[in-house]
Amino acid sequence: MQATEHILIIEDEVDIAEFLALELNHEGYEVTVESDGRQGLDKALAQDWDLLLLDIMLPGLSGMEICRRVRSQSDVPIIMLTARQSVPDRVAGLDVGADDYLVKPFAVEELLARIRVALRRTRTTAKDEEIITVEDLTLNRATREVTRADETITLTAREFDLLELFMRNRNHVLPREVILEKVWGYDFAGGTNVVDVYVRYLRNKIDVPYGSQLLQTVRGVGYLLKE
Ligand code: CA
Repeated sequence: MQATEHILIIEDEVDIAEFLALELNHEGYEVTVESDGRQGLDKALAQDWDLLLLDIMLPGLSGMEICRRVRSQSDVPIIMLTARQSVPDRVAGLDVGADDYLVKPFAVEELLARIRVALRRTRTTAKDEEIITVEDLTLNRATREVTRADETITLTAREFDLLELFMRNRNHVLPREVILEKVWGYDFAGGTNVVDVYVRYLRNKIDVPYGSQLLQTVRGVGYLLKE
């Protein structure tokens, strides 16, 4: 049997925090609520949590800043809750190391689903795993070998790095800007079109010959490798 998972909610809107705590308790999670940004950060760093739910607009310290600081010390899954709709904010949330985000108002079922995905990922993903497998696709970081359906696939260095990013973040949507920064670096001047071009190269190697599509497009946002 699995130990109870402990979730920290940092949210200053009391109604929302209480509602979330109630729903998560009902699902069998243990829940702690903090409403202030600074106290929330202290709490987040004070013990090992299984997951953080982090509002962005908070008194004391913003959710973005909390996320950035927690991430510099811990791999705990972080889901951001944001009232803002704009894509740059979403990208910023992922940039500071959040695993996922939800725009308020959201359906609680959606949140529960995202929490399950995030928790499953940390349970199954060792931090420094050498071999990553998604369905019949396998990537070995040590030998830089990629296989699908037991056939070796030859990738360029850039394609390999891109695939590794997708496989490490499997089932998570990666915005083009994030992909660009992680694979090509901050100072790359070429714009995000290069991401689309390389995703196409990658698809032609890892998906097209096998007749099943792991690498999916999320229109207007980016891509994800879906298990
Ligand atoms: Ca708030």
